[in-house]
Amino acid sequence: MAGILVYALHDGEGNFNKNALGAISKAAELGGELGGEAAALVVGDVADDACASLGNYGAAKVYRAKDVPEGLAPPIVDAMAKVIQDEGFGYALFGGGLLGFEIGAGLTARLSAGVTMEVTEVKVSDGKLVAERPILQDSQIADVGYVAEPGIIIGRLNAFDANETGGSAEVVDVDVELSPWSSKAKLIQRGEQRGADVNIEDAEILVGGGRGLGAADGFKLCEELAESMGGAVAATRAVVDAGWYPYAAQIGQTGKTVAPKLYLAAGISGAIQHKVGMQGSESILAINKDPNAPIFEFSDLGVVGDLHKIVPKLTEAIKARRG
Ligand SMILES: Cc1cc2nc3c(=O)[nH]c(=O)nc-3n(C[C@H](O)[C@H](O)[C@H](O)COP(=O)(O)OP(=O)(O)OC[C@H]3O[C@@H](n4cnc5c(N)ncnc54)[C@H](O)[C@@H]3O)c2cc1C
Repeated sequence: MAGILVYALHDGEGNFNKNALGAISKAAELGGELGGEAAALVVGDVADDACASLGNYGAAKVYRAKDVPEGLAPPIVDAMAKVIQDEGFGYALFGGGLLGFEIGAGLTARLSAGVTMEVTEVKVSDGKLVAERPILQDSQIADVGYVAEPGIIIGRLNAFDANETGGSAEVVDVDVELSPWSSKAKLIQRGEQRGADVNIEDAEILVGGGRGLGAADGFKLCEELAESMGGAVAATRAVVDAGWYPYAAQIGQTGKTVAPKLYLAAGISGAIQHKVGMQGSESILAINKDPNAPIFEFSDLGVVGDLHKIVPKLTEAIKARRG
């Protein structure tokens, strides 16, 4: 069967991840063209109606593995592998995100499957799925086909839009026998990251902070500036990796893609991996002390100078103007 199984990540309280919902919508669209079914796998004791609600995004069936814990990859690989093999799914689709990458990689090894990561689009060609993947620093797109089933497709974050179509999915419980190595680690705690309550993808004004801030404390400057304009704060991977700001705020290839009305970049060099996440912004304003910083090549307005002097003055001026 040329069906597509999607891993439906959730927060443990019946709220499904936006990227997982996008992957289900994409699977439903592709399933229609392939003549196969789009289904989802949910792990954990998620309520019937929450599982059935995935039908609203196009899932015909939801396989629920109640005893498999959410959050760690190895047990979910066991569950995905079982459902794919028992039900004969031709493809597994992940909506992106670190857990999806990890499960997808494990599943690939388990099933000796072909895998494509960082996929931005999927299409049907000659009755098979073909994944589009940006290569060469996102300057080219490669079409990747699969010579055998199953094919594993791992989307880039925000690659697939969630579309509500109405409908309810059939919920089928599955028993999964965990591999011995799948219970060697346990999840101690799940929690919201600082800043995760602000949905930077919906913000109209974003103040992005980079390594030029000098230290985690430097983000106070960005927060004050963002607050003065009613905006939110974003970050580069360099500062997220350094532990200065949470991953929820990361923009770029391995973070979020945003398109605010204004993106103000403070102390950000403008690496290609950052640019791909914010180049859709309506206006880009960059403050950088290096006149040759790449960010100036795609900014609408560039200010060469020390952000520690400029940003507080800008915040003051905006506050004064707004009364
Ligand atoms: C596979 C892969 C995926 C990646 N994914 C991402 C991603 O999703 N998002 C992302 O952002 N990056 C990503 N990166 C990392 C990316 O390549 C860059 O390393 C990163 O974006 C640089 O962050 P930065 O601009 O904060 O730091 P830097 O490149 O170090 O730039 C700091 C800038 O601050 C300026 N500066 C310093 N002091 C001041 C001051 N006082 N006032 C004003 N300006 C100052 C400097 O001139 C410099 O231009 C990825 C890399 C790889 C290999």
